[in-house]
Amino acid sequence: MAHTETKPVFEKLTLIGIGLIGSSLARVARKNNLASHISISSRSESTLVRAEELALGDSYYQDAADAVVDADCVIACVPVGASETIARNIGSSLKSGAIVSDVGSVKRAVIDQMQPHLPTNIHFIPAHPVAGTEKSGPDAGFDSLFENRWCILTPLENTNVDALNKLSTFWQGCGSNMEQMEPDHHDLVLAITSHLPHLIAYNIVGTANDLETVTSSEVLKYSAGGFRDFTRLAASDPTMWRDVCLYNKDALLEMLSRFSEDLSALQRAIRWGKGDQLFDLFTHTRGIRRAIIDAGQEVDAADFGRQNVGQTTEISKDE
Ligand code: NAP
Repeated sequence: MAHTETKPVFEKLTLIGIGLIGSSLARVARKNNLASHISISSRSESTLVRAEELALGDSYYQDAADAVVDADCVIACVPVGASETIARNIGSSLKSGAIVSDVGSVKRAVIDQMQPHLPTNIHFIPAHPVAGTEKSGPDAGFDSLFENRWCILTPLENTNVDALNKLSTFWQGCGSNMEQMEPDHHDLVLAITSHLPHLIAYNIVGTANDLETVTSSEVLKYSAGGFRDFTRLAASDPTMWRDVCLYNKDALLEMLSRFSEDLSALQRAIRWGKGDQLFDLFTHTRGIRRAIIDAGQEVDAADFGRQNVGQTTEISKDE
C-alpha cells in the first residue's frame, strides 16, 4: 500500500542496523516518501560504506548516538541480543517526544533490554514485521518486503495513542497489515509459527549432513524430494537465529516439547501401521496450507512457485 499523504510521516527517521530489514525499510521509506531525512547507523565501516553506495539514506554514522540526534523515529534493526547496547548508547541523545522502536523477532527480551536505558520523555513502542528471507546485509533488502505482511506492535501499558497511531501509519505506508499483541503472547505465537520451524529445518539439514549411509552428493542430487525446502530456512542468518533461541528460550522449549510428543505419536503410528491416523493428519495439514494461501500469505503455484531449478524466485517471504 502506498503512503497516500503528500507529507512524510516523519521528518527524520533513524535506522540503526542496515541489513535485510533495515535496508528494506530504508528502500520503502524512500520510495513511499515516509521520511524527509533518513539517517543510517551500522557498527561496521564496511556495511556503512555499502549502505552509502546503495544510496539507502541521507546521512551515515558509525556511532548510533550521533545518528539519532533530532530524529522523530528511531528503529533498531539489529539482532535481538544487541538491543541493550543500542539502547544504552542512544538513551541520552534522543529528542524529547521521539518514537523508539525495533524489529526484533522476540519482544519480551527486547523490552527488558531496552526499556531501562531509555528516557521517560520518549515513546518506546516495540514492533515485529513478520516478513523476511534467508538473506542478510544491505544488499539483501527490497522495497516490497513488507507488502501484505503483518507487522505486530507490542505496546507497553500507557503508550501514547498519537505515537502508536503514527508508528502504525508508518508501517502501513510500508505495505504492512497491523496487529497488536501483548509481548509474551507474541513470543508464544512466533515460537510455533516461526522459531520452531526454523529450528526443525536447522536440525533436519544437520541430520542429513551427518548421515553415514547416505552420501552428501546423494543428499544434494535428490534434494527436490523435499529436503531443499528445509535448506532455505536453514540458510537463515546464524546470529539472528542464535539470539532468537537464546532470548525466546521458554516459549521455544515449550513448543519443542509439544513437537517431540507429537513426533513420538507419529513414530508409533508408523511402527504399528496406523494408516488411517497418518492419512487423517496429512489431510488436515493439507487444509492448513490451503488456508494460508487463502489468507494471501503464500502463492498457490505448484512446488512453492518455483519456476525452474537454478532460478531464484523471491516467492516466499517469511521470518
Ligand atoms: P542482518 O541483515 O544480519 O543485519 C543486521 C544489522 O545489525 C547489520 O547492520 C549489523 O551491522 C547490525 N548488527 C549486528 N550485530 C550487531 C551488534 N552486536 N551490535 C550492533 N549492530 C549489530 O539482520 P536482519 O535480518 O536485518 O535482522 C535484524 C533484526 O530483524 C533481528 O532482530 C531479527 O530478529 C529481525 N527480523 C529479521 C527477519 C528476517 O527474516 N531476517 C524478519 C523479521 C525480523 P554490521 O553489518 O555493521 O555488523
